[in-house]
Amino acid sequence: RGTVVLAATPIGNTADASARLVALLERADIVAAEDTRRLYALANRLGVRVGGHVVANHDHNERGKADGLLDQVEAGATVLVVSDAGMPTINDPGLAIVRRAIERGLPVTCAPGPSAVLDALALSGLPTDRFCYEGFLPRKHADRMQHLRMLQSERRTMVFYETVHRIDEAMADLEAAFGTDRPMALCRELTKDYEQIRRGTIGEVRASVESDPPRGEMVLVVGGATGAEPQQGRALDVQELARLAQRM
Ligand code: SAM
Repeated sequence: RGTVVLAATPIGNTADASARLVALLERADIVAAEDTRRLYALANRLGVRVGGHVVANHDHNERGKADGLLDQVEAGATVLVVSDAGMPTINDPGLAIVRRAIERGLPVTCAPGPSAVLDALALSGLPTDRFCYEGFLPRKHADRMQHLRMLQSERRTMVFYETVHRIDEAMADLEAAFGTDRPMALCRELTKDYEQIRRGTIGEVRASVESDPPRGEMVLVVGGATGAEPQQGRALDVQELARLAQRM
């Protein structure tokens, strides 16, 4: 029997590719890549020749692909799973094949490496002993607010992925849900030349987003509730109503 290997790829700095990733790219029998062009571009930058058969494995086809790939594993192949950046399965394809491999009793292992969650958490300066990964917030304002309200009393540090298109709305909603004074960090372009961490209260970071709109990829890290926010629920409702009234 072969094995499935999930491998992390760089999130911005090619030099973060591990020696193990390089060896796997050269030697794996099959490489299941989120985007095959991006895989070849990475291999090119690394000066690696991808040795095996390359197949596309993205959100839309990964469930259908899993069994075929696992048949190859059963026959002895090493199947390397990579996404466009960072750790597969973390808001990226990969989970479908992991689940099927577990169900079929086939070996699955991991060649770890960069992932924006841990990079941002570690750089945020916020408590790291307990945290929760929240991925992307819902796109629609009402859904986002509902989700954030559920997190109002969350005590762990929270990590959110965000895109440049929604950062203004996300910051407004974070302030409405958690108040102005919670500490947070906006971590952008991690591992790249223009890496920047903006730390402060939610109010301060929001003001900086308004005055100097951040570009590129970003992660928001927000401090958990300390238990000293008794008025928050009421204050939120008033703020919320005011904002809704403004929109009408
Ligand atoms: N699998 C990836 C990982 O392990 O981090 C995440 C993929 S997800 C589709 C892409 C999101 O990750 C971006 O919108 C951003 O929130 C975050 N991200 C990825 N690379 C980043 C970077 N270099 N700096 C900041 N955020 C990054």
